[in-house]
Amino acid sequence: MTRPLRFIVIGAGMSGILAAVRLKQAGQSNFTLYEKGASIGGTWRENRYPGLTCDVPAHCYTYSFAPHAEWSAFYAPGAEIKAYFEKVVDDFGVRDFIRFNTEVTACVWDGECWRVTLADGAEDSADIVIAASGVLHHVNEPVFSGKDSFAGAIFHSARWDDSVVLDGKRVGVIGNGSTGVQIVTALAERAERLLHFQRSPQWIMPVQQFAYSDEDRAAFRADVTKIDAIRLGDEYWGGIRRFNSAIIDPDSPAMQEIENLCRRNLEESVRDPALREKLRPDYRAACKRLIYSWSYYEAAQAAAVSIETGSIDRIEPQGIRMIDGTFHPLDVIVLATGFRADRFIRPTKVKGADGADLDALWKDRPTAHYAVALPGFPNFFMLNGPTGPVGNFSLIDIAEQQWAYIAQLIKPILAGKSRTVQPTKAAHADYDRRRIEAARGTIFGSGCSSWYLDKDGVPLTWPWSYDAFVQAMASPEIDQFVWG
Ligand code: NAP
Repeated sequence: MTRPLRFIVIGAGMSGILAAVRLKQAGQSNFTLYEKGASIGGTWRENRYPGLTCDVPAHCYTYSFAPHAEWSAFYAPGAEIKAYFEKVVDDFGVRDFIRFNTEVTACVWDGECWRVTLADGAEDSADIVIAASGVLHHVNEPVFSGKDSFAGAIFHSARWDDSVVLDGKRVGVIGNGSTGVQIVTALAERAERLLHFQRSPQWIMPVQQFAYSDEDRAAFRADVTKIDAIRLGDEYWGGIRRFNSAIIDPDSPAMQEIENLCRRNLEESVRDPALREKLRPDYRAACKRLIYSWSYYEAAQAAAVSIETGSIDRIEPQGIRMIDGTFHPLDVIVLATGFRADRFIRPTKVKGADGADLDALWKDRPTAHYAVALPGFPNFFMLNGPTGPVGNFSLIDIAEQQWAYIAQLIKPILAGKSRTVQPTKAAHADYDRRRIEAARGTIFGSGCSSWYLDKDGVPLTWPWSYDAFVQAMASPEIDQFVWG
């Protein structure tokens, strides 16, 4: 017997769609996904820049329940990924559950249920809230003096302006994270002049990209085990496990292997010794999120491309002035300057039981019990929330495992045996303490700047092995939770 419950899911990106499909599959029909944007897709809706590609193999960046035969390449372009999510929404019949252009501004627990306020002032309520609000969507736009005086086009990489002509123009790209590297690679042959402003060099992991042929796609269509061989195969999973063991043990042979691959890539790919030194980081590989690329070093050596390693002084009407006085005339400036990754569901106000307030709880750093739940916030769950695994692997897989964890926690509520569930304060405090201690020893904490770090420089990530995560999600420790 299951009790009818109302669910509200916040966000129709990858993990919100997952929640909707799983709810529907579980026979729930009383739920709404509130989406602040006009369409689904989360980060794959927001990012449309030239060169946008997911650096997880396409067949591994899918839901376990929705394999997809149609990918054009081993690493899929962003537009195809967005189209895949659209297809999943339709194939699994969850589109009618989504309310677009509807931002959730507050969630308040009234002792019985969650009162949810929407941007237009309307209200809704739910027994259970799933915050699937994403990580990388609050853009980081540094304040460059004179920015507003720029006579050309200037925009953040996640606010791409399609009306701006790039071919034959002088383009400056500020930032060389995964985004900046992909944009520069895509524009190297298009711009008349391309300046890549690099504040810190990046290690680049070489990977092979290749297109799938019509025959390949027909074979995937005809026989799903061919997709499974990639999606579930040792090549991908062996790599994930080695990568994760390297992250948590910077002295491991697996980390040595990553460092060797990146160093050799730099030595063998960049021919000019002066450029090679410009591109050589002084921190350890994988300290920042590792960049996977099959062609950035070639792009960096293209005739039209220059790497600028000086410090930007200001933006002037005709271009960028460096601290040393050098001036770069530009028609277009792209700010590939990343995201405020510590925001999560904020600025939505979330107030739990007995005065619990998310802003107060997250004053020092965002946190969540096993990245999913919070003490004082009954029946409130996050997918891809703070302290979850991050790295060069599929966050779809991570969200699916988190959903399985949540599904176990709410079983007694669905069965009508209790009304609420939340982690205990003590259990969460213990998790936080152990996590922070372990995180300091990971490669992410080995001495570099990155969006993985909290304001104290501690990695805000899952610091244990992938298998420990699988184990934790598969069997929640019941004594860490209270059911009301
Ligand atoms: P990011 O990794 O945070 O990189 C931001 C870049 O902007 C860095 O190079 C940073 O320099 C630079 N920057 C920031 N403020 C600056 C300033 N005031 N002056 C000069 N430079 C400045 O952001 P991102 O490249 O957008 O990537 C974010 C994440 O999105 C990735 O790590 C990844 O998780 C995800 N992503 C994934 C893919 C994919 O293929 N799956 C593709 C794109 C993005 P410093 O390094 O010196 O701080």
